[in-house]
Amino acid sequence: MPPNTQDTDLLDIDDILSEEEILLRDSVRGFVEDKILPNIASWYEAGRFELDLVKDLANLGIFGMTLDGYGGGGARARAYGIALRELEAGDSGLRSFVSVQSSLTMNGIYMFGSEEQKNEWLPKMASGDALGCFGLTEPDAGSNPAAMKTNAVQKGGDWEINGVKTWITNGSISDVALVWAQTEETNSTGGIRGFLVPTDSKGFSATDISEKASMRASITSEISLNGVLVPDEFRLPEATGLKAALSCLSEARFGICFGAVGAARSCLETAIDYSQTREVFAKPLAALALTQDKLVNMATLYSNAGLVAMHLAALKESGKATPAHISYGKRNNVAAAREIAREARSVLGANGISLAYPPIRHMANLESVYTYEGTHEIHTLVLGQKLTGHSAF
Ligand SMILES: Cc1cc2nc3c(=O)[nH]c(=O)nc-3n(C[C@H](O)[C@H](O)[C@H](O)COP(=O)(O)OP(=O)(O)OC[C@H]3O[C@@H](n4cnc5c(N)ncnc54)[C@H](O)[C@@H]3O)c2cc1C
Repeated sequence: MPPNTQDTDLLDIDDILSEEEILLRDSVRGFVEDKILPNIASWYEAGRFELDLVKDLANLGIFGMTLDGYGGGGARARAYGIALRELEAGDSGLRSFVSVQSSLTMNGIYMFGSEEQKNEWLPKMASGDALGCFGLTEPDAGSNPAAMKTNAVQKGGDWEINGVKTWITNGSISDVALVWAQTEETNSTGGIRGFLVPTDSKGFSATDISEKASMRASITSEISLNGVLVPDEFRLPEATGLKAALSCLSEARFGICFGAVGAARSCLETAIDYSQTREVFAKPLAALALTQDKLVNMATLYSNAGLVAMHLAALKESGKATPAHISYGKRNNVAAAREIAREARSVLGANGISLAYPPIRHMANLESVYTYEGTHEIHTLVLGQKLTGHSAF
């Protein structure tokens, strides 16, 4: 008989979860099994994000889950991580949607916004009545956002914003864009500031990026800001310098550490199930030593990544998580999931390239995850600097 999920994790990591966390895990997993898994292959093929899911996700309490007040759930970091892990077992695009709404945009407003901004946006974002996106990357500034060209110039009491942001998740479906722009402000933290730009502002437009071979069930857009005027009250008052944008990214990277484990589990379970039923040379694939070697290597990478995620959550909850810890988790767990997806695909043979099975979809998605939120290489440089004291950027 195929093993159940419990047996897939050779270290039984979920045995340390509280009853509350198990309830959360099972409710998000149930949602993924009921609403996502039966449809995701066709949505992926069609290149479609299903907007009806927004209310379901809000009802699960996932938007702003860790925020205190303003419609947030006040949950522990680990609980949020577990929810993202279960969502990404469905599809990385689903987890990306939540990461952008919750970790990047809501957290950005929560950490750096005024009381008015928090009251204006957070409750309706928590309920899914408003959607947000996070505009940092530009056509000529990805890994090095300090090179951004988007600028904001003060015009009386307003700011005029001009520039282009690209690869922006949820860009065309958002009500508000958290846009990072260069200003002429000169203090020790540099001139980059964050602005909450309503997407119906004059001069704002978003065009979806088509022909993607990865993250097809997620919306990715290019945003143009042509002379967009916003009042000073739309600037995040506490966001001074690039470090503010980077601390939003740290929140999202933490979620990715868990999410990658979910994608990996989906691939590993599929490979184990398939190997039990597929016969080659009159034997189940699972009975072959070479298949078992693949499965054991995948399961080891998977459980190790699960441990890393749990440890990071403990560090985060005790206020000890550093950017280098998060870099370690993002780099390790996404690389592990990517390797597991590729190996699972090979276990399925030709069926491995069919969207009827999840590994090829996860494998393609994980290429994006490997690149966004700090590329694998950039996190290598962060850790290299931590170990040696030399910056090799
Ligand atoms: C599906 C998807 C969704 C995204 N969503 C968002 C979003 O919502 N908001 C947003 O702002 N951005 C988003 N991004 C953009 C993403 O964050 C950037 O793609 C990422 O930061 C890398 O930038 P780049 O693509 O310009 O690559 P580049 O910076 O051009 O890098 C190209 C290659 O060079 C390597 N490299 C760069 N610098 C160095 C160095 N010093 N030493 C060695 N190697 C180096 C990189 O690791 C990479 O392999 C998204 C991207 C994707 C694919």
